[in-house]
Amino acid sequence: MVHIEFPDHSVKEFPEGSTGIDIAKSIHPQLAREALSISVNGELWDMMRPIRQDAAVKFHKWDDEEGKHAFWHSSAHLMAEAIEALYPGTKFGIGPAIEQGFYYDVDPGEGVVISDADLPRIEAKMQELARQKNEYKREEISKKDALGLYSKKGDEYKVELINELEDGTISLYKQGHFTDLCRGPHLPNTESIKAIKLLSVAGAYWRGDEKRKQMTRIYGITFPKKTMLDEYLVMLEEAKKRDHRKIGKELELFTFSQKVGQGLPLWLPQGALLRERLENFLKGVQKAYGYVPVMSPHIGQKELYTTSGHYEKYGKDSFQPIKTPSEKEEFMLKPMNCPHHCEIYKSKPRTYKELPVRYAEFGTVYRYEQSGELHGLTRVRGFTQDDAHIFCRPDQLKKEFKDVIDIVHLIFKALDFSDFETQISLRDPADKEKYIGTDENWEKAEKAILEACEEKGLDAIIEYGEAAFYGPKLDFMVKDALGRKWQLGTIQVDYNLPDRFELEYIGSDDLRHRPVMIHRAPFGSMERFVAVLIEHTYGKFPLWLTPNQAVVLPISEKHVDYAKKVFSFLNNSDIRTLIDDRDEKIGKKIRDNELKRIPYLLIVGEKESETNTVSVRKQGHGDQGSQSLEEFAEKIREEVEKQTAFQVE
Ligand SMILES: [Zn+2]
Ligand SMILES: [Zn+2]
Repeated sequence: MVHIEFPDHSVKEFPEGSTGIDIAKSIHPQLAREALSISVNGELWDMMRPIRQDAAVKFHKWDDEEGKHAFWHSSAHLMAEAIEALYPGTKFGIGPAIEQGFYYDVDPGEGVVISDADLPRIEAKMQELARQKNEYKREEISKKDALGLYSKKGDEYKVELINELEDGTISLYKQGHFTDLCRGPHLPNTESIKAIKLLSVAGAYWRGDEKRKQMTRIYGITFPKKTMLDEYLVMLEEAKKRDHRKIGKELELFTFSQKVGQGLPLWLPQGALLRERLENFLKGVQKAYGYVPVMSPHIGQKELYTTSGHYEKYGKDSFQPIKTPSEKEEFMLKPMNCPHHCEIYKSKPRTYKELPVRYAEFGTVYRYEQSGELHGLTRVRGFTQDDAHIFCRPDQLKKEFKDVIDIVHLIFKALDFSDFETQISLRDPADKEKYIGTDENWEKAEKAILEACEEKGLDAIIEYGEAAFYGPKLDFMVKDALGRKWQLGTIQVDYNLPDRFELEYIGSDDLRHRPVMIHRAPFGSMERFVAVLIEHTYGKFPLWLTPNQAVVLPISEKHVDYAKKVFSFLNNSDIRTLIDDRDEKIGKKIRDNELKRIPYLLIVGEKESETNTVSVRKQGHGDQGSQSLEEFAEKIREEVEKQTAFQVE
C-alpha cells in the first residue's frame, strides 16, 4: 500500500501502483473525468502513471494552468502525428504548450512548404486522429536507445536534444503512430480533444539561433468543448480590434521607426501628454504619501552594476558597455534604477529617525530583447518605470507595504481596473539556503506582507518558493475587459542590494544597522501600462486621461463663429477641446468624432448660438440635452475630480 496525501492534508491508503485515475475515481467519478494531470510530490505526472511510493498529490483540471498545459501539450503531439501522416519524413524540433495553446517547430524537408493554406487539412487530420481515442503511452528508455531510435529516423533535432539529456531521465510518449521524446505529462488519450483550431504559421530558428536552420512553427489551440473554441475565436477577433498597436496609431499616441531602432518607442504629442497626465497623477499621490523625487542619468559605470549584481544578471545578454576615448572607462545603459538610488541614499549618513526614505523617479531603463520577442509597447528595449525605492527599518515594513497597496488601489480605481488578483511570493520553507538575508528578517518581512494584505482586505494567492533569492514580493495582476490577465504592479522586499551597497543607518541603540529596501512600481512601466490600458478601454480612456475631452461641431458654416467662441471658452477653462469646422454634414461629423473616441460631442446651431448653449452628446450615452457653457465646463470638472480624487488613509 502507498499513503497518498491530498492538498487538505488528509491521507488515504491505496494499492501500490495505483494511478492518478484510480485515486481520482475513488474520490468521485467526475474528478476522474475532469482531471487532466496530477502533481506527485511537486512533479507533474500523467493521470495514468502508476504511483509506487508515498506521495502528496494534487489534481489539475482545465481551470488550472497545469491542466491546460497537459491538454495543449498533448494537442501538440496530436498535431505532430497529423503532420507526420500528411508530410512523411518531417523532422520535429520542440512542441511546447504556451500561454494560449501550443506550437510545434517542424522541418518538413527540402522544398516542402507548409503555409496557412495547409492548416485546415492538418486540422481535419487531427480531428480524425483525435476520434480514434489513442492512448498517450509513456515509456522510459536509455539514452543509448533513444539516440538509436532518432538516428535511425534521421531526426537530427531530437538527436541534439537527447545528447543534452542525462541517462536515466529519458522518456518517450507514443500515441497512435507517433512517438515523441518528452517529459510529459499528457492526457490519458486523445478523446477529450474535441475542438481544434490551427492559428498561424511562422518561421523560427532552431533553438532561437539565427545562424541555424529556420524551421516552420505552427501555432494552434484546442478545447474540450466546441463552445469554448467559439468563445475563444470571438475573443481573438475582439483582441485584434483592441490591439494597442492599431489603436495607438489611430489615436496618434506613439510610433516606431526602423531608423531609431527596434523596440524603442517614440511618443507622439498626444501620447506624451497622456503619459504626462498619468505621471502627474501618480506624482500627486506619491507626494501625499511622503515620497520625494530624485533623478539619475541613463548610464552608469560598469562597476556600479557589478556591485549591484545586475552585470552578472543582464551583462552578457544585454546591451554591451559603452566605451569612451579613455580605454579604462566603461559605462552601461542602466537596466535598473535601484543602484543609482542606493548611491543617493549613501550621499549622507542616516539615523533611524530619518527613515523611511522614499525616492521616486520615472526612470528610463534599457534591456536587450531579441527582435523576435519585441511586441508593440508590451515588449520593448527601452522603457520608463514608475519606480521608487523605500529604505526603511524592519519594523516599518508593514506600514510601508500597506501604503504601497493603497497607492496601487488608487491607481486602479482612477483607471477603472476593478478586477485584479494579487499573489504573494514567499520562500520555499524546505530550501532556506538559497535565499540571502537572515531567517529573522525573512520571517519579519513575510509576516509584514501577509498582515498588510490581510489588513487591506486583499485575498492574495500565496505561492511558496516563488520569492526572489533576495526577498519576498507582492504582485498585482489585472484582468482586462476581455478577461486577459496582465501582470502590472509589483512590490518587492530586498535584503540583497542594501548588503551589496553597504547601506546603513544609526539605530536608537547607537549601532549601525542595514535598512530594508522596497522596490515598487504600481504601473510597472509606462509603456506596458499604456498598452494594457488601451486594450482594456478600447482606447476610450477615462475623461481625466483622454487626449481630447470634447469637440465642437457647428451644424453649418453659419455657426462656425459661435463654435469658435465655444472652443476658446472651453480651452480657457482647461477642458481639452477640438473643433470640427469641416464643410461636412453634421451626421458624418458625429460619426467621425465618435471614431476618434472623443467622449463629448458639442453640437451648435441656430438655437445654441442664440442662447449661448451647447447641445451635448456623450459617447455611449447619447443625447444629454442642452447646457450653458459654464454648466458644461462645471460638469466636466466635477467628473474629472470624481475620477482622480483620493484620500490618504
Ligand atoms: Zn510531450
Ligand atoms: Zn528597484
